[in-house]
Amino acid sequence: MGKIIAVTNQKGGVGKTTTSVNLTASLAAAKRRVLLIDLDPQGNAAMGCGIDKQKVSHSSYDLLLETVPASETIINVPELGFAVVAGNSDLTAAEVHLMQADRRERRLADVLLPIKSQFDYILIDCPPSLNMLTLNAMVAANSVLIPMQCEYYALEGLSALMSTLKSIQNSVNPELYLEGILRTMYDDRSRLTKDVSEQLVEYFGNKVFRTCIPRNIRLAEAPSHGLPVLNYDKTSRGAVAYIALAGELIRKEKN
Ligand code: ATP
Ligand code: MG
Repeated sequence: MGKIIAVTNQKGGVGKTTTSVNLTASLAAAKRRVLLIDLDPQGNAAMGCGIDKQKVSHSSYDLLLETVPASETIINVPELGFAVVAGNSDLTAAEVHLMQADRRERRLADVLLPIKSQFDYILIDCPPSLNMLTLNAMVAANSVLIPMQCEYYALEGLSALMSTLKSIQNSVNPELYLEGILRTMYDDRSRLTKDVSEQLVEYFGNKVFRTCIPRNIRLAEAPSHGLPVLNYDKTSRGAVAYIALAGELIRKEKN
């Protein structure tokens, strides 16, 4: 199938990486073949999978700039059951190189074309900005998954993101669609969270995932052990929520 999902939101710290890593792990636990591409120079997704981002021989820089065949950039992590292309600070240079390249916004789409059939899902963890890397992810992707925190300014940021989505649909990737908006770090005791959440559902309807990811300390601890939460504490509320999200995504494919 090879469905490519860009996990994106230009706002920082909303749970993009946590979602990329843990949704990947949960889809893998459901026996799907999954590739996680870390497209953020911070390299947090790679680290969250126990990969030393400075020691990898090839990264998503090499994938984008085709310094080696795409297959050589893929790191299989058998103990986690999925594969990763690591990201690191080299990606900052990739952005500069891409600026001068032909088909610069289509590079990732072009390099993924021959390998995407090896996977059921390819998730791309995007950086917190709308730069050339994010644009490449959104051009390569079939859909975008937007994690957001239910807080006061979130809706405003979301409308900016929706207009970006529209302009990409109207130009470089007409097929791109919104997979869904994911409520992260959800605190059901907070009045504000509930209000923002209600507004979100009112506006975006069934484009809001039914699964909410609760604020859960295990989710924050797991990356320091280089593990998805499923491998760190599979009974935690965070792990259960990401399993539910994977189920929701898989069920959607069947409809
Ligand atoms: P950036 O924009 O910098 O890439 P991000 O959107 O990828 O950030 P994360 O790195 O996933 O966001 O999350 C930001 C911080 O919040 C991290 O320290 C993470 O461990 C923590 N965090 C994310 N989701 C949760 C959650 N549901 N419960 C508790 N902590 C969380
Ligand atoms: Mg991140």
